[in-house]
Amino acid sequence: MHVNPNYEKLPGSYLFAEIARRVKTFSAENPQAALIKLGIGDVTRPLAKAAVTAMQNAAAEMLDAATFRGYGPDFGYDFLVNAIREKDYAPRGVALDFDEVFVSDGAKTDTAALQELFADDVRIAVTDPVYPVYVDSNAIAGRLGDFVDGRWSRLTYLPCNAANGFVPQPPTEKVDVIYLCYPNNPTGTTLTREQLAPFVAYARENNAIIIYDAAYKAFITSDVPHSIYEVEGAREVAIECCSFSKTAGFTGIRCAYTIIPHAVRGIGGQGQAVELNSLWKRRMGTKFNGVSYPVQRAAEAVFTPEGQTECAETIAYYLRNAALIRDGLTAAGYTVFGGVDAPYVWLKTPEGIDSWAFFDRLLTRAHVVGTPGAGFGPSGEGYFRLTAFNTYEKTLEALERIRGV
Ligand code: PLP
Repeated sequence: MHVNPNYEKLPGSYLFAEIARRVKTFSAENPQAALIKLGIGDVTRPLAKAAVTAMQNAAAEMLDAATFRGYGPDFGYDFLVNAIREKDYAPRGVALDFDEVFVSDGAKTDTAALQELFADDVRIAVTDPVYPVYVDSNAIAGRLGDFVDGRWSRLTYLPCNAANGFVPQPPTEKVDVIYLCYPNNPTGTTLTREQLAPFVAYARENNAIIIYDAAYKAFITSDVPHSIYEVEGAREVAIECCSFSKTAGFTGIRCAYTIIPHAVRGIGGQGQAVELNSLWKRRMGTKFNGVSYPVQRAAEAVFTPEGQTECAETIAYYLRNAALIRDGLTAAGYTVFGGVDAPYVWLKTPEGIDSWAFFDRLLTRAHVVGTPGAGFGPSGEGYFRLTAFNTYEKTLEALERIRGV
């Protein structure tokens, strides 16, 4: 049995493995150093009480044959699908059919799996730097060619950097699929309707589709779209992935949802239009058996007034940390981006210091751990990511230490 050769092409989980290795070595040599981790991409605040209560009540239902639930619907329970339609999308002027919403166990799962709907030879574009899942899932499927000198030979990179204000331009060549993520991980930046519009126009003109990852939309404070469907014409060309992970602290609970409008179509073997919605239904029916009932009840509770208030408080806590990082770094002379509509702050490393050298400097001099930008793609070199997920006190202390570096 030969294994999938594409796994051998992957650079591996180099980034976080290398960070862990350096941190371990440093800690072994400096056991007295109290490290502060601002590299965390996971939430740390407790779940909303409304969600926990709903989960407890749902678990209690399992004790009684009359209310016990076995397999749920492949695409999500009615109560959650309707909450998403009515509480999340309708208020933004986006009307979704019931069967355009697919509940799943993660935006990672969905953004990684959506590429199964595409032909083997489609051309992919990603913004650069990028959340690695979009790239690796297509690489595993064999679409990206070879990884040479930090770049995939058959992948279109759309650079995002200080020079272009982190506003990518649509591809200049023909691609079939464009992955966008806003608010962005890792840069923490957003795009306005006007800046998203050229991507929608590109997709419409080139028979391309957009996979829009809105996992961080709950952090938006500025006047930017929460959904790609707020951009005119997107409904025919965009799939949107959302998650309760960062919105409501569900990283360990697992619940997300993907929107595939019926109007989004690809081309079939006879040149006919094929709804991606029907392909995804087929795929989910074959490979997925639904998210657990207690978890879907917890997710539903996120949309109640109490759930909304509790989640908003937690998001405000993280955004306060993000503001602290932005202000602290700016006062220390750094150039910073993001952190206004996202839990990520992206800073420019000092002149002449690459992102790994900056990592070492923060680790050894400030005992602060962050994430080197180079790990997110070629355009991440010269940048560094700090996250707002630690406690306020630790974040404050980390900034004081960084100032002294
Ligand atoms: N999308 C982006 C851009 C992320 O940064 C993350 C997690 O860090 C995810 C998706 C994962 O979401 P989920 O927990 O729903 O799988």
